[in-house]
Amino acid sequence: MPTLHLLGTGAAISDPHRTTTMLGVSDEAATAPDVLLVDCGGDVLQRMRMAGLPFERIAGLIITHAHPDHVSGFPLFMEKIWLAGRKTPIPVCGIAPALEQAQKTFEAFSTITADWDDMPAIDWRPVAFQRDAIVWDDATWTVTAAPVEHGIPNVGLRIESPRTGGVVGYSCDTAPSGNVAHLGRDADWLVHEANGAGEGHSSAPQAARTAQQAQAERLVLVHLPPGDKQAELAAAQSIFDATELGEELGSYPL
Ligand SMILES: [Zn+2]
Repeated sequence: MPTLHLLGTGAAISDPHRTTTMLGVSDEAATAPDVLLVDCGGDVLQRMRMAGLPFERIAGLIITHAHPDHVSGFPLFMEKIWLAGRKTPIPVCGIAPALEQAQKTFEAFSTITADWDDMPAIDWRPVAFQRDAIVWDDATWTVTAAPVEHGIPNVGLRIESPRTGGVVGYSCDTAPSGNVAHLGRDADWLVHEANGAGEGHSSAPQAARTAQQAQAERLVLVHLPPGDKQAELAAAQSIFDATELGEELGSYPL
């Protein structure tokens, strides 16, 4: 069954049990590598292991934007897939500033990686910074992106399983945005940040209003700062009843 995995649910600093927000989607019924990863601001491959997803199943990595809590784990990601024996090129998708940041972080280790023969090639796949930009399109997943409101160029995503029609909308980091409602329209799960109201971010009630606008089935809050969230959660639920806090390493069927 196509499944969304919350590989991380925290803000840059969060509760002790949460790491930076990173997503994965998998579909065990697929015949080709099926796991798409979204962001690598932490050790995304350690989280894959925690989630029981083997590295051989990685189809590609999507990087949303240039902030450290979304991209800084990229050199470690490359080291790990190389050590795990990957030979085939690794597709890395994102808008130009996100890919440039990933490339820079990787090049910071060029004196080391120069001696690492047979590292997998990086198949950079630029994504247009516009509504409904195609990020990924194969038999297992269709992914589109749209700009969101975050101070620097950033995109939210819509991830669909052509097999079941299941949909995840993902806000990424953003102030309330009509493009997120568009990406999350009729989604099974709208994964929305709730870092707190402020420049380039949203509160839980603001996320709830977007879920309502999107007519999503359920809202899952991520990018959570440290501390008790019960009041924020209750406020969100009073607007959009089917709201829950993202569960670290939780899996959600599509
Ligand atoms: Zn950010």
